[in-house]
Amino acid sequence: MVEQVSRRRQTKAGASGGPIALPIALQMATNGSCGGRGHCLAPMHRGSLMFSLHTPQRQVEEHENQQIRGPTEFLHLQVLIPLMNMLYYTQKKKPPQDASCRLCCRCGNQYLVARRGHCVHQEECHYHWGRLRPTPAAGGWQIQYTCCSAPIGSPGCQVARQHVQDGRQQDLRGFVHTSDKELPPGAHPGIYALDCEMCYTTSGLELTRVSVVDSALRLVYDTFVRPDRDIVDYNTRFSGVTAAHLAHTSTSIRDVQAALLTLFNAHTILIGHGLQSDLLALKLIHSTVLDTSVLFPHRRGLPYKRSLRNLAAHYLGHIIQDRMDGHSSSEDASACMRLVLWKMGQHADTQR
Ligand SMILES: [Zn+2]
Ligand SMILES: [Zn+2]
Repeated sequence: MVEQVSRRRQTKAGASGGPIALPIALQMATNGSCGGRGHCLAPMHRGSLMFSLHTPQRQVEEHENQQIRGPTEFLHLQVLIPLMNMLYYTQKKKPPQDASCRLCCRCGNQYLVARRGHCVHQEECHYHWGRLRPTPAAGGWQIQYTCCSAPIGSPGCQVARQHVQDGRQQDLRGFVHTSDKELPPGAHPGIYALDCEMCYTTSGLELTRVSVVDSALRLVYDTFVRPDRDIVDYNTRFSGVTAAHLAHTSTSIRDVQAALLTLFNAHTILIGHGLQSDLLALKLIHSTVLDTSVLFPHRRGLPYKRSLRNLAAHYLGHIIQDRMDGHSSSEDASACMRLVLWKMGQHADTQR
C-alpha cells in the first residue's frame, strides 16, 4: 500500500521548487541522487541540511500534536520521521580534526579560531532557529523550518555576527559533586526544580542565568551569571539574557556552585526538563533527579521528547516561552515543578 501511495505521489511531485514526494526523498537518501529536483536530500545538495537536524528530539518533539488527517498522511509520517532521524544519525558532520577549526552548532559550517577562541575571520552565521517539521503540501510532504516555513536546506533566515560552538563537553574542568553529608534528624533533603539559560562565549555555551524553585513554587535562587570567557552571542531569543542584564553582574559559575551545594545534598530531588543540559551548564554532578521529559514521555518513545512548552500547555493549560524577549528560567523551573505536582496529584487519585 505504501508503494501504491508512493507512486501516485511521485507522479504529482513538481519539478524544481516543488515539495518532495516521499519516495523521491527515500531514493535520494539511499542512492545519493536527486534527479535535479528542488529541496534535495541527496548528499551533494545537502549543504547545511544535515546539521540542521542536530537535535532530532527537539526538531520533532512537538510532532505528536500535529493533526493526522487520514491513513495516507499517517503512513507518510510513519516513514518520514524515521527518515529524518536516519539522515541525522548517518550523515551528521564529524568534528574537525584541526585544533584551530570549530564546527558551528547553528549553521554547520567550519570556522577558524585563534588561541583564545576568537574567530580568525569575520564571517556571518546564517541559520534557522526553528525546528524541522513535515508539513502537508500539494503533491506530497514538505519538510519545513518552523521559524520561517522555508523548505529544508534553504539558506538561513537569521543572520548572526559570527559562528558559535556548543563546546560544553570539551571542557570538563570545574565540575563539583553534591555532598552525601548527614542531615539532622527529621530534616528533609528537599525537592527543587531548576532551569538554566546559556549564552555563547569563545569556548562555547556557558551558564548565564539559573533559577531554582521549591515545592511551594517559591523562587529560592535566581541569578544572572557572568561567564568566564568573552561573550560572543547572548543567545537572547532562547536565553532571554541581554548585555544589560550582565552589566552589573559579577557572579561566577563557582559562586553559583557554592550556593547550590549549600542548598542541595546528594539526596535532594532535582526536577527539570532535559536536566542533563542544565547540570552540564552548572558543571554539577547529581544523580537524584526527576526529569519531566522522561516523566511525560512522547508516545513514540525515545529519542522523541515533548517540549516543556507543549507539556505546560497540555497538562497545566499554561502557555510558557511565549515572550518576544526570550525564555525565562524562573518560568520554566516553575512549570517543571507544577508538572510534577500535577503528576503526583494524578497518582494520588488513582491510589484512592
Ligand atoms: Zn528559518
Ligand atoms: Zn554558523
